[in-house]
Amino acid sequence: MAYGFDDMTPAGLDHAASGNDGRALQRLLDELGRLPGIGPKSAQRIAYYLLESDAERARRLASAILDVKKQVHFCPVCFSYATRKTCDVCADTTRDRTSICVVSEPRDVSAVERTGAHHGLYHVLGGVISPMDKIGPDQLHVKELLSRLASGEVEEVILATNTDVEGEATATYLSRIIKPLGVRVTRFAVGMSVGGEVELADELSLGRAIEDRREL
Ligand SMILES: [Zn+2]
Repeated sequence: MAYGFDDMTPAGLDHAASGNDGRALQRLLDELGRLPGIGPKSAQRIAYYLLESDAERARRLASAILDVKKQVHFCPVCFSYATRKTCDVCADTTRDRTSICVVSEPRDVSAVERTGAHHGLYHVLGGVISPMDKIGPDQLHVKELLSRLASGEVEEVILATNTDVEGEATATYLSRIIKPLGVRVTRFAVGMSVGGEVELADELSLGRAIEDRREL
């Protein structure tokens, strides 16, 4: 996806594009345009902003991007993102270790954290069951969830996968295998519309959905 600059080439831009291949600016526009939620206009706005900023600001942005790729990894316990040995939630000894909120993606952890409604731990599945995409329980972190439950410390699992077809199917599957272990299984529902994405839900609705969770 290339965003042409022909229609808006102000004087003085030519020297900025004089990278090794003479396409530095276009390359930046192409890369920005590939980011989620960034359309051609936003890509141009950001590119201009960076061109007009001092070199130090651009260097800080570039190194922040490289550092996040180098330093952030999956937490070996819950599979959320971590910068230390485990993620901040797993490392926090004040969290309620009897409750685990199961979500599909690491970004859902941030969404639930923002509500302040969950004081326990998390478990990130790394996706949802989707036969169409050939994703079954074996492709998700289900085994690891079961081994966390085997310790006997966990009393409740809150299933907070999206409320679309795959999210519901995943919740149903997990409930079926977790309940026989004697662990209470709950699902948020009230306040989350059908097809709702955890990540996009507003804090108030999501917080209420977790507080008003129902027994499965
Ligand atoms: Zn963790």
